[in-house]
Amino acid sequence: MANRKPYVGGNWKMNLHRGEAHALARQLRQTLTMADKVEVTVMPAFPYLIEVAEILKGSAIKVGAQDFYTQANGAFTGEVSLSMVKDCGCQVVLVGHSERRHVIGESDALINEKVLAALGAGLEVILAIGEKLDQREAGKTDSINAGQVCLGLAGVKAEQMAKVTLAYEPVWAIGTGKTATAADAQNAHLAIRKTVASLYGQTVADGVRIQYGGSCKPSNAKELFSQPDIDGGLIGGAALKAVDFKGIVEAAL
Ligand code: PEP
Repeated sequence: MANRKPYVGGNWKMNLHRGEAHALARQLRQTLTMADKVEVTVMPAFPYLIEVAEILKGSAIKVGAQDFYTQANGAFTGEVSLSMVKDCGCQVVLVGHSERRHVIGESDALINEKVLAALGAGLEVILAIGEKLDQREAGKTDSINAGQVCLGLAGVKAEQMAKVTLAYEPVWAIGTGKTATAADAQNAHLAIRKTVASLYGQTVADGVRIQYGGSCKPSNAKELFSQPDIDGGLIGGAALKAVDFKGIVEAAL
């Protein structure tokens, strides 16, 4: 059985203004003493990346960007490049979040471009995938996940997979208070790992971390994270309060 270090990501989304983001970063720095046993990344909104990274500098908590654009520089109004997010102190980028896929309208092709660009720039990637409710009800969970994994990772080399974490986030569970049962989530994670094995072989599949995301909170995290193929979580709402996020990180120990 592979020994995967648990990994918890906090996606702050378009929440927390400057003072709130600073305060949360300070609280996490003070209270997340277990961050060497569990890998932890927080993803603030763009305007606060530099300051949050400064507050967390020297701690085990990494900073990630929720998005970026694939081009290096130039006439791309409103966009932010990978070298800019690196310059702000980011080591990690999130790609393929369901809000980018289904609210902003990002395609699998763009998501794949982003994955390749981020890995090419030496950043770690959290690639989020997951089915919508109608797809789940039609029994398509595993095929949707397999498709998003294959398309998202197209062109990624086996040796680059050490920098890739997958996040299984059933869309119907994100921000809704509905959580997949631990058994359902485990089944989906196992199927995702098999897809990775079909692409890269069992050793890579055994090494890749697969986070669960979707209304994860301190009260359900332990059961989810104790499943053999669930290696931590990608957290939205519960990442906005230090006490809740700490509870989830502790559940991953
Ligand atoms: C997310 O946005 O990735 C997420 C899982 O959100 P929440 O925890 O609020 O469901």
